[in-house]
Amino acid sequence: MKVYASFDDAVADVVRLAGAMTLKNALAGLPFGGGKAVLAVPRLADGEARRGMLERYGAFVEGLRGAYVTACDMNTAEADMDVVATRTEHVLGRSTTAGGSGSSAPDTAVGVFHAIRAVCRHVFADDDLTGRSVAIQGVGAVGAVLADLLRGAGATLIVADVDPTRASEVVDRTGARAVTADAILREPCDVLSPCATGGVLNADTIAALACRAVAGAANNQLATDADAERLRARGIVYAPDFAANAGGVIHLAGYETLGWDDARVAARLAAIGATVTEVLRLADADGTTTAEAAARLAADRVSAGR
Ligand code: NAD
Repeated sequence: MKVYASFDDAVADVVRLAGAMTLKNALAGLPFGGGKAVLAVPRLADGEARRGMLERYGAFVEGLRGAYVTACDMNTAEADMDVVATRTEHVLGRSTTAGGSGSSAPDTAVGVFHAIRAVCRHVFADDDLTGRSVAIQGVGAVGAVLADLLRGAGATLIVADVDPTRASEVVDRTGARAVTADAILREPCDVLSPCATGGVLNADTIAALACRAVAGAANNQLATDADAERLRARGIVYAPDFAANAGGVIHLAGYETLGWDDARVAARLAAIGATVTEVLRLADADGTTTAEAAARLAADRVSAGR
């Protein structure tokens, strides 16, 4: 759910996000295609207006008769999926009290943690995070849990959030150093982890990065396809977002559609690390960008699935 400048912007965004879901599911080894919906709203509604819109949306999804399964993302949460579920069964991520598997964010964080270890293995030939510095942009539902995991593994943290309360909670809990939302992308660190919004890696920001690798949760981190090559030219190892942030869909589809138990979900989250390693290896071998290597690997899996 998002306020867009124009309807065309919303269409462009949903097409890109849907494409990324196809790649994400294929790389995560989930037996699904990909899709995404955006609710392009004039303002973020609450109360009855929000409820009514979500009910109409649920009825629309129901009309697709299971060809598309919806779930929460930006500006929507479990309570919203509970409302959508009053009109359709084709919805994941309801609250646990309403029979769902709850928030996918903690498992997205676990997947990103495995991706960070994989990029460190690639860059430093060592995935021990003790003393490694990680800069997290956005410490919301995913970023805050990721900070705890990294701290537990001995990493040094730098964090930024446009919401100062969120940043200071993480600082108090983990001993992270907080910097401004503007400065975080320029912070010298081993790994930068974008966990806020998309489009943060562009010609300007990439020129100023002071990290060795990027691995984060945000969808569509690259502003344009050319930014993958910009990262490569700077020698910065990029774990493609749709490989690193698959933990959420693994959680939702695993628990709610495929009937997996905790051990199976945990194994598939850990496999994100192996997938990122494979993508980085393929990119090196082919002399291509990691984004291209990941897209090719995903496309091969989609073909094999057909
Ligand atoms: P969230 O809204 O809980 O957290 C995002 C945080 O980023 C917020 O605290 C917000 O204040 C902060 N933020 C926004 N703009 C910022 C900026 N310019 N600089 C610094 N901080 C900024 O969202 P989330 O669930 O933690 O998801 C984070 C990202 O990961 C989103 O892009 C989301 O689409 C993506 N993602 C999430 C999941 C999931 O399971 N939640 C799965 C896959 C991808």
